[in-house]
Amino acid sequence: MRIGDYLAHGNRSFSFEFFPPKTPRGVESLFATVADLRELGPSFVSVTYGAGGSTRDLTIDLVGRIKREAGLEAMAHLTCVGHGRDDLAAILDRLAEAGVENIMALRGDPPRGETAFVRPADGFGYGAELIAFIRGRLGDRFSLGGACYPEGHIECPDKDRDLCHLQTKVAAGADFLVTQLFFDNAQYFDFVARARAAGITLPIVPGIMPVTDVAQIERFTTMCGATIPPRLRALLAACHDETAVVEAGIAYAAEQCRDLLERGAPGIHFYTLNKSRSTLAVMRDLDDLRVRESVGV
Ligand code: FAD
Repeated sequence: MRIGDYLAHGNRSFSFEFFPPKTPRGVESLFATVADLRELGPSFVSVTYGAGGSTRDLTIDLVGRIKREAGLEAMAHLTCVGHGRDDLAAILDRLAEAGVENIMALRGDPPRGETAFVRPADGFGYGAELIAFIRGRLGDRFSLGGACYPEGHIECPDKDRDLCHLQTKVAAGADFLVTQLFFDNAQYFDFVARARAAGITLPIVPGIMPVTDVAQIERFTTMCGATIPPRLRALLAACHDETAVVEAGIAYAAEQCRDLLERGAPGIHFYTLNKSRSTLAVMRDLDDLRVRESVGV
């Protein structure tokens, strides 16, 4: 299934994002999570691409395995970090051989310990360039997703300029967009309105992460520049143990998703952190709103 086409036909997508685990035990546990979440009939799942090292190959392996073994549509993420054109061409060939139809094409963050993104020799400096490369080389072989940032990308404080960069990404050939996590729906709707005013008509799927750990969410939001609204902060401050945090995270995310869907969002992309509990609970809360559209491969 090509995600761009699926969304373009007006279908709502419910999708789950995973990261490639570092250990065999982690892989086993990921497949247990995939099995749990499979019951919800996701439109697709996706596997992120690491900043370097062995998990990069694992992304390709996992996407192939999830398609074959779980029968779910699986999208591979791919970044520009550390890759020249020949590397990227070889990876694209491998993805095509594995039957992958969808790629989330990104610039990527600098590897751990480095502070700024460095354009690789003979490689690309922006997600838009990677998208243009894939389109130039393989035409429509893949449906391509791009990332977008309701609160602006952390390296580009000027939101209007960030939106111009997004226009370039769309013009390069993205088929759909998925947002960075956010906790304030007003940010999403304002961003969508600005994108539409700028002529961007692609589906913009909101990315939602149910909070499960306060320190972790502080770290993530600091890294990506998302805001924690005062109401969520107060809810979390009132939690006295981990279970209460997880429950508050589920309740908040369920409310957020319901509002997004009732006001026309084209689906929800869940940042699962390879765990099923919170995503399962939020999806069940949305049962009345969503059409179960399981797409086998
Ligand atoms: P770009 O769109 O290239 O933008 C990066 C910065 O450059 C922005 O500030 C933008 O405004 C600016 N810019 C763009 N074009 C130009 C231009 N022509 N001139 C000047 N400035 C420009 N990271 C991973 O490492 N692996 C993953 O699997 C992964 N998956 C993600 C999935 C989603 C849905 C999202 C939202 C993010 C994901 N990330 C992932 C994080 C992402 O790699 C970082 O946010 C990264 O910093 C930006 O990637 P991008 O493709 O959005 O960058």
